[in-house]
Amino acid sequence: MTTKLIVAPPATGKTQACIKRIQELRANEPLASVWVVVPDRLQASAFRRRVADCEGAIGTYVGTFGDLYKNILEHSQMHVPVASSPLLHRLIQEVVDLAVEQGGLPHFSPLQRMPGFILALRESFAELKRSLIYPDQFIEFTRSGTTAQQELALLYSLYQTRLRDLNWADPEGISWLAVEALKGHPHVASSIKLLVVDGFDSLNGAQHQAVKLLSTQVSEILITFPGIIGSKRPAHRRFLEDLDKLIQELSPHHISLNNPPFLPADLLHIEQNLFESSGSVIQPAIKPILLEARSPADEAREALRWIKRLVIREGIPLSSCMIFTPNPSVYHPQLKACAEEFGIPIRFTQDEPLSESPAITALLNLLALPSKNFNTRALVNVLRCPYFDLSISSDIADQLELVSRVAQIVEGRDQWQETWDRLAPHSFEEQSDVDDERILPGLPRGAKANQLRQIMEALFNRITPPDHSCSQTEWITWLEDLLDQLQFYQNATTERDQNACEVFRETLRALVLSEVVAGERVVDYAQFFIDLQGTLEGVGQREPGVSGKPALLVGRMVEARGLRLQAVALLGLSEGLFPANEHPDPFLDEPLRAALGLDQRLQREQAGLFYQAVTRSDRHLLITRPYLSEDGEKWEESTFWKAVQRLFSKEAVETVRPDDPQPLVEAASTQELLFTAVRRQSLPQRYDFLHERWNGLRHAREVVKARRAKHPKGPHEGYVEAIAPFMEKRYSSEHTWSPSRLEYYGTCPYQFYIRTALGLEARAVPQLGLEPGQLGSMLHKILEDTYRNASDPKDIEAVLSSLEIIAGQVFSDAPRQFGFRPSTLWENEKAELLDTLRQTIQALVAETDWTPIEFEMGFGKGDYPPLIIDLGSEVLRIRGVVDRVDRNSSGQLRVIDYKSGSMHLTANDLKDGHRLQLPIYALAVRDARKLGIPVEGIYWKILGAEAGSLKLSKFKTDTNQGVDAAIEVMMAHLVRIVNGIRSAEFPSKTPRVGCPSYCPGAQWCWRFEPEY
Ligand code: SF4
Repeated sequence: MTTKLIVAPPATGKTQACIKRIQELRANEPLASVWVVVPDRLQASAFRRRVADCEGAIGTYVGTFGDLYKNILEHSQMHVPVASSPLLHRLIQEVVDLAVEQGGLPHFSPLQRMPGFILALRESFAELKRSLIYPDQFIEFTRSGTTAQQELALLYSLYQTRLRDLNWADPEGISWLAVEALKGHPHVASSIKLLVVDGFDSLNGAQHQAVKLLSTQVSEILITFPGIIGSKRPAHRRFLEDLDKLIQELSPHHISLNNPPFLPADLLHIEQNLFESSGSVIQPAIKPILLEARSPADEAREALRWIKRLVIREGIPLSSCMIFTPNPSVYHPQLKACAEEFGIPIRFTQDEPLSESPAITALLNLLALPSKNFNTRALVNVLRCPYFDLSISSDIADQLELVSRVAQIVEGRDQWQETWDRLAPHSFEEQSDVDDERILPGLPRGAKANQLRQIMEALFNRITPPDHSCSQTEWITWLEDLLDQLQFYQNATTERDQNACEVFRETLRALVLSEVVAGERVVDYAQFFIDLQGTLEGVGQREPGVSGKPALLVGRMVEARGLRLQAVALLGLSEGLFPANEHPDPFLDEPLRAALGLDQRLQREQAGLFYQAVTRSDRHLLITRPYLSEDGEKWEESTFWKAVQRLFSKEAVETVRPDDPQPLVEAASTQELLFTAVRRQSLPQRYDFLHERWNGLRHAREVVKARRAKHPKGPHEGYVEAIAPFMEKRYSSEHTWSPSRLEYYGTCPYQFYIRTALGLEARAVPQLGLEPGQLGSMLHKILEDTYRNASDPKDIEAVLSSLEIIAGQVFSDAPRQFGFRPSTLWENEKAELLDTLRQTIQALVAETDWTPIEFEMGFGKGDYPPLIIDLGSEVLRIRGVVDRVDRNSSGQLRVIDYKSGSMHLTANDLKDGHRLQLPIYALAVRDARKLGIPVEGIYWKILGAEAGSLKLSKFKTDTNQGVDAAIEVMMAHLVRIVNGIRSAEFPSKTPRVGCPSYCPGAQWCWRFEPEY
């Protein structure tokens, strides 16, 4: 029995030495059993390839420690089934429930139902097991520890007992059993002639113990380790502790290789000088090794371009290239998208969690609805989800969303029920030609509401689970039936979705099997959903489509060891990304880890990890970093980046900026080629076949240029000359205008175009409180009826007592009338509104000389003629409603327009053409209703209990003043507005005070600026 140890820097031929030893053995004993153990499947297949190339593959088993453990157990006749991920999740949840029930988890019990807690426990148990920490030992260790540590020890012990009772093992438990088998069967591994342990830079407790026991049974063990024995280099520190342990435990023979690293000059320079504080020479850089790009997305793009260049121009096989990243959640989506554009097949070493697949995310959202009491936002998302066949058209979904928003349905079937009860029995006449703030959304009423009610009832019945407890198998049967009804699997059409569905089905099968193994688990729906969600979070899904074909591998930085490649790109070398910020483990803190001999979470020697990563390539290395953070701030280089940078002349660093011109030959995709060609304004003849796309892109460029231009121009900004004949017809001299529509154009012509001409509506985000239209309509109605019914509209007491009666009546009927569902705050809101109305009435009556004579005075409606305005070149017809007309003791008239929420009621708003109502109403009183000559016009802010600053009597221009001046200005604007509309000129023009939030364009218009 001999144990040999090769310790040498990376790329000095350690693996080659192992293969040579296998060949030597084979030369004497062709059928000798040889085992090679490497850290992961990736390295296993790389080793297998190399050994096959040297004709040593027959009789050589290459695998991980897990494979070796299973082999040992088979030879010792210990057949213990390994529990699946769903079964383990269930067992841990059960032991947590049991401990809570017995009062043993005062600290952790609030986390009992959190799927993340079960996953974190599973991680901790696995780590303890990998380090051969047995439950009894752990209980002893934590006896004087914190409550959390003692509870963790209790759960660990309960979990292990439960597994043992079932006679199953978890994947980590296999290492325990293998160690026991090696102890109990001193010859179980004696058939192995040579055991090679290659590619590791550290071994966990179980691996150490297994190697130690195997060294007494296996004829020869050959272990390789990176570094140099006794080295003081910071780059080697990571390996030394384990190396010392191995030497102490196994007393191996040292084999020295005496080879210098087989690395090209620049990589050799890095290997030999990285992190050395002094003495390193600055080497001239032949080509850039360090590349800075604006963002992680640009970094991913540049790294892939670099690899594509090497594959195409230098013939490097794609399978010999690899990218390592420190943060998969940041880099993987970017790499995936860009690789697709560049046509590079790509594969990630890490599986994507099944719960992150779009189809499964949609499914979990659906299944979460009952637990969230059918939260409206989530419900509306489900209504529009393409994975479910709910037989609900997008038009119906729009209407349901509108109802939910207007009726303030936050959640629950009962809130929908209440709403239908209000809407179904009534029809409602919508008011047009009123202020913006009084326009009510067109809610479905009567039969239409009844139809929607039936649709929603059917949906609720379909997705509401049984309200009693069921076994897990029964819940899965219910779920499968539901998915069949919704045709979920048929709607998952992409390869990625189908792959996810397949894994999902397997997970459901495993859950059913877990009941066969561990007995029925009878739970209510909420618990079933938590179990399912937690289980899915622990299940991975392999990227589809590239298995068996050469593909670019993308791994995590911790996987950058053992492998030899020809081109390696390391991403994310900016501050905080790599080296990563370290956080202590909330379950196993640093002192406890030190006491148990577990790996530390802080000061993890990431420098050693980086040293391993930069020495993976035999030919090409690229290190990249983002130079701007998400908020546009400069992103500092990481210490590792600086450590490489200081070894080379400045040519080693290349900075790629998005606006830098790029040669056509460097384009890595057709999109990039076209993009560069458009920038250069020429497409070489040999790319003629791309002409159509090139023209499309040039066109897009013009659009973007137009968007950035100071002044709007062209059809994309509302100059739609082509539809002018249509506009002229629609808005001919026969057309009857409304003041608010004219104001839309006056404020921003593009707003008129999208809102009035195209009829688009802003999709408002649901928020608490009444919609502006509901509030405005309600307050207008109360004021109108209060004055109408007051015995003396000049007597404050009479008006206030009328207010008490009218407000009560309007408030009680308001939910039905205006279609909202009273919230729990409705009683308080009513009291507050009543108080505000009292104040507004007191302020209005205080203006003693004015007496109301008309309320809601219509013109151009019913029997009343429209207002006819002669603009000289033509005559306009206008209809509308004047909120109130007052008369004073001299018989003069004043018009009032109530405002419940509007701002910007100044003289400048009239001059700019944003506020035209008051002069139009003054004309309507004079010319359409012939009540007399108005001398005043004001906006009245109901909630502010005061008049707006625009008063027609005080309005002035350079040549005129008073109501006549206001009418003159208004008429000039009307000429501009009507001509603009008929010529189809709708330029977007950001209002001086910003854009109104209710403008539909606020959601896409590039000239949008928030209102202030
Ligand atoms: S967002 Fe502003 S600029 Fe754009 S259409 Fe609306 S009001 Fe006009």
